[in-house]
Amino acid sequence: MDPFSDTLQRLREAFRSGRTRPAEFRAAQLKGLGRFLQDHKKLLQEALAQDLHKPVTESEISEISLAQGEVNLALRNLRTWMKDEKVTKNLATQLDSAFIRKEPFGLVLIISPWNYPVNLTLVPLVGALAAGNCVVLKPSEISKNTEQVLAEVLPQYLDQNCFAVVQGGPEETGQLLKHKFDYIFFTGSPRVGKIVMAAATEHLTPITLELGGKNPCYVDDNCDPQTVANRVVWFRCYNTGQTCVAPDYVLCSPEMQERLLPAMQSAITRFYGDDPRSSPNLGRIINEKHFQRLQGLLGCGRVAIGGQSDERDRYIAPTVLVDVQQTEPVMQEEIFGPILPILNVRSLDEAIDFINCREKPLALYAFSTRNQVVKQVLARTSSGNFGGNDGFMFMTLNSLPFGGVGNSGMGKYHGKFSFDTFSHHRACLLAHSGLEKLKEIRYPPYSVCRLRMLLMAMETRCTIL
Ligand code: NAD
Repeated sequence: MDPFSDTLQRLREAFRSGRTRPAEFRAAQLKGLGRFLQDHKKLLQEALAQDLHKPVTESEISEISLAQGEVNLALRNLRTWMKDEKVTKNLATQLDSAFIRKEPFGLVLIISPWNYPVNLTLVPLVGALAAGNCVVLKPSEISKNTEQVLAEVLPQYLDQNCFAVVQGGPEETGQLLKHKFDYIFFTGSPRVGKIVMAAATEHLTPITLELGGKNPCYVDDNCDPQTVANRVVWFRCYNTGQTCVAPDYVLCSPEMQERLLPAMQSAITRFYGDDPRSSPNLGRIINEKHFQRLQGLLGCGRVAIGGQSDERDRYIAPTVLVDVQQTEPVMQEEIFGPILPILNVRSLDEAIDFINCREKPLALYAFSTRNQVVKQVLARTSSGNFGGNDGFMFMTLNSLPFGGVGNSGMGKYHGKFSFDTFSHHRACLLAHSGLEKLKEIRYPPYSVCRLRMLLMAMETRCTIL
């Protein structure tokens, strides 16, 4: 007995009925989502604290307010985004109407990870609802308290004929993925991304993959070490380092490393006190498995700062590693914890080669007081997102697309990009029903003269009408 068949059938029927298409319906769903975020802010904060010891400020900035901001933006722009987009025409279609219709795909599946379980579940949901789809949400089973709130409370705020939350881990998700969806939006690891993509291939389902990887952070010799240390340490330790866009390792000269280390120590003490374990501003590692993995990484290279851990409460101190070999595990996998290795390079060229020899990252950072250096890193590398002289502040702009490239993913979202991702862009040409005499030059018998006229009519671009 397939546990998902009935739910999926209900949603499919609702989509076929056309009820999700009108702007009023979409707006009502978005307003429901906004009310859920307002009414249950405290519940969500508590769930995030139970799952990740997430400080309230971090829950507010990068989970709840961020999702609320996306809801508000979509509500303000919904009708504009939904409008047909007129396109330029050629002479042959001058009297016709040519436009792009943004239509919903149908039944959409959104699978999300545990590290920002509200943001990464609800921000894609905003795009899917705004675009007029029916949606199945599959939050991570690992952030179980947040999963519970999303499964039990959120559906009360949305039309349950068009929306459902499915709970479960790899096995249940595997079963769910056997079904045909019209679009799949996956956020998670590249390993599971491949499983999801293989399942989507079976049904030729279009897909967005928001994946992870190792994000390099180049620090030039021309920098104020304390400014760089403040920024890199905060963005590395934010959410206890469990952030897909966190700087994963630093590349700098040995001289810069010597200047950075005391500055990083000072930043850590200022942010988290002399004993970061007792700081209310530092979270914990999500579970035992990830704690063990991270504890193993503490053995790589030499600990220059931090290095303490406590299994009882899954605590890992903000840690900086030096003398790290590229072949060590800490440089072979995404760290996803408050551990920052520093690797030495002799020049900008060496840093760029180092970056370009590896998979394209989700985010790439460059720090220098010389603009030319930042611009060179930008021009000579590729990544999903780029931050010059700062961490992942680009995430706060929903005017920028967010997404990976290559191994870090495909597709993009946030703001209008989310609406476009969850909409099929249908090419439409509505021709004049008469004017047959004009159109006759297209038909056989072909001749050189007709061909010439036809080519001219098709090539000439007109925007008069
Ligand atoms: P994950 O890939 O293990 O899990 C993600 C989702 O897939 C979960 O809902 C999980 O239940 C499901 N899943 C797990 N195994 C599965 C399987 N075998 N078959 C089908 N579904 C399965 O990722 P995670 O550990 O939850 O999150 C961490 C990863 O996500 C990191 O690699 C991180 O970089 C990445 N990430 C990326 C972004 C982004 O926006 N690009 C954001 C956050 C996290």
